[in-house]
Amino acid sequence: MVFDKTGTLTQGNFAVDQIKTGGLPVEEVLRLAALAESFSSHPIALSVLQAWAATGGETPDQKQVRQYHDLAGRGVAVELAAANLLLGNRQLMLDNQVRLPQPGQDPDEAAEATILYLAIDGLYAGELWISDQLKPDAAAAIGKLRLLGISELSILSGDRRQVVQKIANRLGISQVAYELLPAQKVAALETMMSAQTRNGTAIYVGDGINDAPVLARSDVGIALGAGSDAAIESADVVIMSDDLGKIAEAIAISRKTSRIIRQNVVLALGM
Ligand code: ADP
Ligand code: MG
Repeated sequence: MVFDKTGTLTQGNFAVDQIKTGGLPVEEVLRLAALAESFSSHPIALSVLQAWAATGGETPDQKQVRQYHDLAGRGVAVELAAANLLLGNRQLMLDNQVRLPQPGQDPDEAAEATILYLAIDGLYAGELWISDQLKPDAAAAIGKLRLLGISELSILSGDRRQVVQKIANRLGISQVAYELLPAQKVAALETMMSAQTRNGTAIYVGDGINDAPVLARSDVGIALGAGSDAAIESADVVIMSDDLGKIAEAIAISRKTSRIIRQNVVLALGM
C-alpha cells in the first residue's frame, strides 16, 4: 500500500511559519503569493489564501491576472500586467534559472518545512516556510492496516525529502520517495510493482490532487475525501470522508463479502 503525503497522511492545512524576503515588505510577498494562488485548488494554495486573509488582506483581485498556469507538483505561474510571478518549490526556481540566495544546495538541510519560493520577473523576491500536521488518526489507521496483514507500506510525495522523512518516521514507514512530479509517481509505483516477488496487489491511497494518474495506474486506487473530480474518476474506491481509518474498514468489509460469496457458491453447488 502506497500513500500520497499532502492531504492524505497530513491534513493539508498548512500554517505559514515564516516569511523571508529579498527586499520587499513581508506583506507584499504574502499578497503576491495569495494573488498567484487564487486560481489553484491545491491545499497549499488554500492555506496561503487563508494566511493572507488572516492578516486582514482583501480577497485577491483575479482580474489582475492575465494568465495562469498550474505547474502540477511544482507550483504556479501567473502573468500580471506589470510582472510575471512564479511561486513554487526549489525545482521550479532551478528550472526557470531563478537565482536563490543559497545557490546550489538546499537552504536549510535540517528544516522540516515545505518552502515556497516567489520570483518576480525571474528574480528571487522571497520565500514562505509552511508546515502541515499529520492527521490525528494517521498512526492508528496505519496500525490497523498492519494488523490486516498489509506489511509493505510506502510514501510517494512531491514535497522535500526532510518533510516526507519526518512524516515517515512518525508512522514507522521506511520506504519513501520524494520530490516527484505526478508522472514520476506513476514510474515509481511501476518500479515497486515490478520489484514485487510475490503475487501481490498494489494499492495507492491519495487525495487526487496531483496524483490522479497514479490512482488510475495502481491495482486498486483509493481516493480520500471527495476532493477532486479527477480523483473520483480515476479511483476504484472513494472514501467520502477524510478518515484514513475507513480504509481498514473497507478492506475488512470486502474480505467478509468475498467470504460470503464463496460460501454461497459452495452451498448452491452442493444443493
Ligand atoms: P504531495 O505529493 O506531497 O501530495 P504535490 O505533488 O501536491 O505533493 O506537490 C508537490 C510540491 O509541489 C509541493 O510540496 C510544493 O512545493 C509544490 N506545489 C504544488 N502545488 C503548488 C501550489 N499550488 N503552490 C505552490 N507550490 C506548489
Ligand atoms: Mg497530495
